[in-house]
Amino acid sequence: MRNIDVEIAENLRRVRDRIANAAIVAGRAPDSVTLVAVSKTKPVEAVLAAMRAGQTVFGENRVQEAESKFPPLRAVRQFDLHLIGGLQTNKARDAVRLADVIETLDRPRLADALAAAMEKEARRPKLLIEVNTGAEPQKSGIARNDADAFIADCMGRFGAQLVGLMCVPPHGEDPRPHFDWLANCAAKHGLATLSMGMSADFEIAIAAGATWVRVGSAIFGSR
Ligand SMILES: *Cc1c(COP(=O)(O)O)cnc(C)c1O
Repeated sequence: MRNIDVEIAENLRRVRDRIANAAIVAGRAPDSVTLVAVSKTKPVEAVLAAMRAGQTVFGENRVQEAESKFPPLRAVRQFDLHLIGGLQTNKARDAVRLADVIETLDRPRLADALAAAMEKEARRPKLLIEVNTGAEPQKSGIARNDADAFIADCMGRFGAQLVGLMCVPPHGEDPRPHFDWLANCAAKHGLATLSMGMSADFEIAIAAGATWVRVGSAIFGSR
């Protein structure tokens, strides 16, 4: 095995163990949490190493980077690609063509653009609504106060294609109240998927009910 294979396989094993343990501690099934391996800024060799270690779900922030790495792998591997970065309206069609899941639906204009793109591409990725739980101006995500109406609107419009909610709590803050808020909001709307938790806090997120955790550096090394 190559070095990169060994290192990434070991990291993945450790992360998967920690996920299973956190789920058990929370009284949940060890397989109730899906690991999204975030490969942004990492070369396709790293993605392939993770795939060889059995990883099948990946996350990328940027449409262009995802486009350069993942489509060639479709012919040889089965995987789900999640887009987890703020999405510009003019990238909606590329996103729909590329992604199996778009986690960052966060405004009516993007909902319009995605709906139009899905019509044109005849492809329907799953959708999550991102909430800017920390009200950070530089971050994507719908405001807490606008979330209920936007979620209801998107549920009407996209139906079962809309599967859940996602958030990225403010850096350096206790993420717990953000995770709890998101879990509450999802429960209120009957949405089953909660994408929350990264390398630094995925165990806390699992305790709060995360069903997907997005982990980059703990698998692929620091960026
Ligand atoms: C980069 C990124 C992650 C992964 O972050 P790590 O700290 O490397 O685990 C998760 N979610 C989003 C939205 C990201 O941009």
